[in-house]
Amino acid sequence: MPDDNSEAKHVSNAKHNSESKRVSPLTMDSQQFREAGHQLIDQIAAFLDTLPHQRVTPAESPTVVRQALQADRPLSDRGQEPALLLNRAASLLFEHSLFNGHPRFWGYITSSAAPIGALGDLLAAAVNPNVGAWLLSPVASEIEAQTIRWIADLLHYPTDCGGIFVSGGNMANHVCFLAARQAKANWDLRTAGLNGVPLRLYCSKETHTWIQKSADLSGLGTDAIRWISTNDQLQMDATELREQIRRDLAAGERPFLVIGTAGSVSTGAIDPLPELAAICREFDLWFHVDGAYGALAALLPDAPSALSALKLADSIAVDPHKWLYAPLEAGCALVRNPDKLRDAFAYHPPYYHFGTEAINYFDLGPQNSRGFRALKVWLALQQAGREGYIQMLSDDISLAQTLFQLVKQHPALEALTHSLSITTFRYAPPGLTLRDERTQTYLNDLNRELLTRLQNSGEVYLSNAVINGKFALRVCIVNFRTTLADIQALLPLVTKMGHDLDTELRPQHLAP
Ligand SMILES: *Cc1c(COP(=O)(O)O)cnc(C)c1O
Repeated sequence: MPDDNSEAKHVSNAKHNSESKRVSPLTMDSQQFREAGHQLIDQIAAFLDTLPHQRVTPAESPTVVRQALQADRPLSDRGQEPALLLNRAASLLFEHSLFNGHPRFWGYITSSAAPIGALGDLLAAAVNPNVGAWLLSPVASEIEAQTIRWIADLLHYPTDCGGIFVSGGNMANHVCFLAARQAKANWDLRTAGLNGVPLRLYCSKETHTWIQKSADLSGLGTDAIRWISTNDQLQMDATELREQIRRDLAAGERPFLVIGTAGSVSTGAIDPLPELAAICREFDLWFHVDGAYGALAALLPDAPSALSALKLADSIAVDPHKWLYAPLEAGCALVRNPDKLRDAFAYHPPYYHFGTEAINYFDLGPQNSRGFRALKVWLALQQAGREGYIQMLSDDISLAQTLFQLVKQHPALEALTHSLSITTFRYAPPGLTLRDERTQTYLNDLNRELLTRLQNSGEVYLSNAVINGKFALRVCIVNFRTTLADIQALLPLVTKMGHDLDTELRPQHLAP
């Protein structure tokens, strides 16, 4: 709470400064810091306690949120009391946020964040090492390197690989993409640019949109992407891949990169990674795996067999802010040969070597000054241990599996897919047996509206997928807080709302 001196403390005033003591407007003395910090920690602890009883989202309009924030208010000239500001910020965030840490949040691929990660971020910000250069972050750089070795080990990837933390999956994939582009160019690409060489890359139609951004940002253009079709499991067709590479070679084009996805965003599909690895070996192409979501399933004793080919990849992108439950942001790029990262990013002669000398992360990626993203991941990995992660990932997968079974048994629901911890399905009222185009269009409209209502209800949070033209409800469980009861609560909600909507919306020509 502000005391009588609070104003004075925040006004730069020569009277308060002496030769050896400077009181700046951002100074918090230790007592002030302790009080504000303790109060904030208490509020966060209470927030985490009450989370399961809150709505997943208040589902407010932008206007309402802007009003709550007083968005038009200009920055005040005079400073304010930090404890008061933190208190207000906490209230704003607790009252006007969508909580991806809620046990019933299953949208997109956004995980519940481990509380130790929040404390880790506080510690990281307090010490504030600049993990661009080893000299500026001695132990933080080493913690990042150790975290990368641990993650590689969880994936059964060589632990002497290169690696770097970045903001998320998009950036991790992009870093690997640039390493591949440089590694496979036999001219001085970094100086001369693309020189009109028709580089070509290959991925399935299920690949996340990072690939368009990378092709664009790297100067290749999205026409360089060869979209390979998928089978009915939404996995890349390896035969078509080989044929397309042959055709491009015959036409004088320059294939350089194949991207396999380990856990697609929409359904969790895993491409035939061993076949892709073999094709890359055959044609001397870079084999990259986008494992932002699914690669970590490799740590399970009963991991999907295709993930055994992760160890054959030249590079892997993996997202600790997904299935390692790190708070945003944390993505990680792994590159088998550490020199390839340096080759793609460093503007220094390689004075340093991995293992023997200092690692300067500004040489291994696009960033210069870098925050300490690895700490929160390093802490969570140790809190849970390998066994803890096996348990959490297995539970997520088995809950998604259970949901799939429950959906299958329900007469008003149509089960569509289950892979890893993603289950997709749709509401399909039993009366609607005709499978003609008009019925399909209606079912798509019905499920689209149903999703909006489910999201706005605040009871659960799902997102969607489109599977062979069907608009599907999609549940993705990367959430160590979700229980069986949470999953069981979903079906009555979906069928009740679905039924009500069907009554409201069903057009005359489809009436029973
Ligand atoms: C989430 C995801 C991405 C993008 O990752 P961000 O962390 O959101 O940048 C890319 N690819 C796949 C397969 C993903 O699941």
